[in-house]
Amino acid sequence: METPSNRRETNATVRCVSGTCKKCGAVMNVEIGELPVQEARRQLAARNGYECPGRHHELSPLLDGFRWDWTPFEMPAPPTDEEFLEQLRQAYPGRRIFNLGAPMPGVPHLTELRGLEHVGFGEFESADHVYVRHDSPRRSRRFYVQLPRAQ
Ligand SMILES: [Zn+2]
Repeated sequence: METPSNRRETNATVRCVSGTCKKCGAVMNVEIGELPVQEARRQLAARNGYECPGRHHELSPLLDGFRWDWTPFEMPAPPTDEEFLEQLRQAYPGRRIFNLGAPMPGVPHLTELRGLEHVGFGEFESADHVYVRHDSPRRSRRFYVQLPRAQ
């Protein structure tokens, strides 16, 4: 089979189930890989506390917060953190981008900045800048784009 040249040839799709948040309607796709659905469900049932893709934090069981569709489906593999960072760099040319998560070579860590104020929902500001949050599609890191404060 031929691979179109404009597609990444690594991990074309991932197997997922999805849930719809009972509170805000956001859809969360959970990658389950090759796990049998019953086993995936058992592992998800063990998770208390989560952050909804709709950006609210809950302390309740993950399973209870969503209406689940347990029919697995294939979806395109989300971009890696490195690929997502490159997309951000193209979307915000010349802007500084910070990482909040496991260190990445060449990307300054948000915690290195002084004078940051948390303004809620994981957003930060300083006297001169706002830091716009972009969660990586794999939800493994948060990136922040530094923009000048509106006067
Ligand atoms: Zn929600």
